[in-house]
Amino acid sequence: SDVVLRAEGLKKHYPIRRGVLRRTVGHVKAVDGVSFELHRGETLGIVGESGCGKSTLGRLLMSLEEPTGGSLMFDGVDAFAQKGGDLRRLRRDIQIVFQDPYTSLDPRKTVGSIVGEPFEIHPDVVPRNKRRERVQELLELVGLNPEHINRYPHQFSGGQRQRIGIARGVALNPKVIICDEPVSALDVSVQAQVVNLLEKLQAELGLAYIFIAHDLSVVRHISDRVGVMYLGRMVEIGDEDQIYNRPTHPYTQALLSAVPMPDPTLRGSGRQIMLTGDVPSPANPPSGCRFHTRCWKAQDVCSVEDPALEPRPDGVDAHRSACHFAEPRVVV
Ligand code: SF4
Ligand code: MG
Repeated sequence: SDVVLRAEGLKKHYPIRRGVLRRTVGHVKAVDGVSFELHRGETLGIVGESGCGKSTLGRLLMSLEEPTGGSLMFDGVDAFAQKGGDLRRLRRDIQIVFQDPYTSLDPRKTVGSIVGEPFEIHPDVVPRNKRRERVQELLELVGLNPEHINRYPHQFSGGQRQRIGIARGVALNPKVIICDEPVSALDVSVQAQVVNLLEKLQAELGLAYIFIAHDLSVVRHISDRVGVMYLGRMVEIGDEDQIYNRPTHPYTQALLSAVPMPDPTLRGSGRQIMLTGDVPSPANPPSGCRFHTRCWKAQDVCSVEDPALEPRPDGVDAHRSACHFAEPRVVV
């Protein structure tokens, strides 16, 4: 099938404990019923303000977190039901590239042992006597000098370190890579190089990416489709063009209107939507539509009925929006 990963109703609630008895007094609903599909070889961008649950979602997809509910099918296999060797095999196919190349690489290890680490965990992939050669190929693939295999992370720049992290991520030839803010710790001048590398590897290796980031323009550049998260929910999902040019959810419209416009004549044209109020606590999300406390279009029904993520006015099935009053707004 064309779908490599399918999440349905994914949930991650963290208990809030208080007092000497550590009684559970509530739950932080970091991810609270998220469903989507990822197609082979595509990039799905996930955007939203910090605390919207996008990083927790990434960790759930990696089986780094125990889910509270929902299901995850990976290439037709029920990911949450896998144990032992089956789980290890599954983990070969889904890798992660972390945000911070300064803290995610062990400073005491050489580049060779960092990039070759996946072969220690999955010893049957590359025979021991071929590993050094394979690691050098990987370094070359990500644009690093294969002769630098014995150097340590501190001998590389931030961009080069992220290349090391990417080489480790592709070492096992995975089907999916979760990129969690992979360029946000890097200088702007280096970001484009790393994004270009990810695109090159995608084309060469047929990888699918989940690209989690708060930078809307980077996500737009790399993504085929984009999902917008708010308070643990996916509020809109669609093709990059639909989300950026004809968003239908008021939250997406507000996020996009806050993006600095490259054309200075458009600034201050009164098109900016100001979001008022604080982001509510994910421990106690508003009733009905979670965005209703900040939404300028809210009606009575919004605080009562929780809108489903479904196709809205433009009738495009792949473009879904969780709003009772969704309507396209052309973004200039
Ligand atoms: Fe706003 Fe109501 Fe739509 Fe929620 S359902 S985004 S409150 S208009
Ligand atoms: Mg985050």
